[in-house]
Amino acid sequence: TSVQSGGLPDESATLALGAAFAAAAEPGLTVHLLGDLGAGKTTFTRGLLAALGHRGKVKSPTYTLVESYALPEYSVHHFDLYRFADPEEWNDAGFSEYFGQDSLCLVEWPDKARGLAPAPDIVLELAVAGDGRTYHFQALSQTGQSCLIRLST
Ligand code: ADP
Ligand code: MG
Repeated sequence: TSVQSGGLPDESATLALGAAFAAAAEPGLTVHLLGDLGAGKTTFTRGLLAALGHRGKVKSPTYTLVESYALPEYSVHHFDLYRFADPEEWNDAGFSEYFGQDSLCLVEWPDKARGLAPAPDIVLELAVAGDGRTYHFQALSQTGQSCLIRLST
């Protein structure tokens, strides 16, 4: 099972997918979130963060580029690189240091930092389909594959 896909009829289904993913995830994972504006990337992240114990708001890191959450089990870093333009900013901000064995990183618009952002263990692609969404997971590493196996069982 290096791929997994399905439908998400409404917002609550996207939140539930994020929660299910949280139960299968582990620190050290890097997840790239692909899909157009409004596809549900941040909604998925909200579901994941809530399931890992986050009780506050989830801000879209559109301007800050990253929001970090120190959660009971481990830290989650949520990137949104839509407005990322300057590769030097990546280094100046020390973003590479966010990607380590003790945290989970989710990256919206990873292509904006191509060559700088670490390679993903899992790519999740979301797409608008009628009133709902579709999702497609692909594992690109052994760690990612183990996670998708736990997700499917
Ligand atoms: P992105 O981060 O990909 O730009 P968002 O997560 O901000 O997108 O979601 C955009 C909108 O889509 C939100 O209003 C959200 O409620 C809605 N949404 C999320 N998942 C679904 C779904 N499965 N069906 C219908 N609407 C959804
Ligand atoms: Mg978003």
